[in-house]
Amino acid sequence: AGLSKHYPVGTGFFRSQRKVIRAVDGIDLEIRERETFALVGESGCGKTTLGRVMLRLIERTEGAVHYRGQDLHALDEAAMRAMRKKLQIVFQDPFASLNPRKRVKDILAEPLRAHAYGTGAEIEERCGELLDMVGLRRQLLRRYPHQFSGGQRQRIGIARALANNPEFVVCDEAVSALDVSIQAQVLNLLRDLQEQLKLTYLFITHDLSVVRQFADRVGVMFLGRMVEVGTTEEIFAKPRHPYTMFLMSAVPRPDPHQRNRERPLLTGDIPSPMNLPSGCRFHTRCPFAQAICRSEEPALSDRGGHTVACHFPLDQ
Ligand code: SF4
Repeated sequence: AGLSKHYPVGTGFFRSQRKVIRAVDGIDLEIRERETFALVGESGCGKTTLGRVMLRLIERTEGAVHYRGQDLHALDEAAMRAMRKKLQIVFQDPFASLNPRKRVKDILAEPLRAHAYGTGAEIEERCGELLDMVGLRRQLLRRYPHQFSGGQRQRIGIARALANNPEFVVCDEAVSALDVSIQAQVLNLLRDLQEQLKLTYLFITHDLSVVRQFADRVGVMFLGRMVEVGTTEEIFAKPRHPYTMFLMSAVPRPDPHQRNRERPLLTGDIPSPMNLPSGCRFHTRCPFAQAICRSEEPALSDRGGHTVACHFPLDQ
């Protein structure tokens, strides 16, 4: 709630001269148990920073992240280490996120050892079990990451995230680097694992066709703010924020009647996150902007089922 992450930039002598980038700026968001919540928006909108602040991989500037009633950012080191078992992340790039000098068994054993999983034999057995879970043969435990394809490497990244039976997994562009057919296989695996292990996913992606296939609900971010939250169906079929409508208009539509529907044209540059416009942050690009949009920032409010931050939400 009220979650912010600001990065100071520049070194002005006076505090008032220093600027900040408001990467995440006052986000209120609730993720429901066992859902897949997708976070979307153009690059630089703050979605990756939000995912990391939610896991406390980076510290917040303001606000709280409540997980089962506890504010993660208020926990001491020992309590946070214990909590880490429940909160995991799968990164975009399986090439960069797996240590090339370690065998798969050591990559998978690392999080198990960090949480004192058991004896060497128990850890080895668990590593084999993890490979089974992600559809890879146990015999591959002795291999190195470069001996696997991109899709297999991402399966190893998923196995590593699952090592300590997490409940909440952030998938940060987890399938973006993969070919479309491999992407579909990894998405199916993630869906099966969600069923079996009762996982909750935060899915961070710029790929809206993946969101449409995979997510239950969607949050749309623009310049550090959440501008719309709704079910996947509502967001794709009836976007109410002009920015969401712009994003959705770039996605091929299965319904030919919707294809011809009039779409707003965006004009103007994306404002600098260091020098945000007054009022609604989208007003410099919004074809529907009016005087109030330049002076008052709209709050996220409930508009018949989903929440929108706009003075004049679209009526679809
Ligand atoms: Fe456009 Fe105004 Fe809505 Fe912002 S508040 S999205 S400028 S109509």
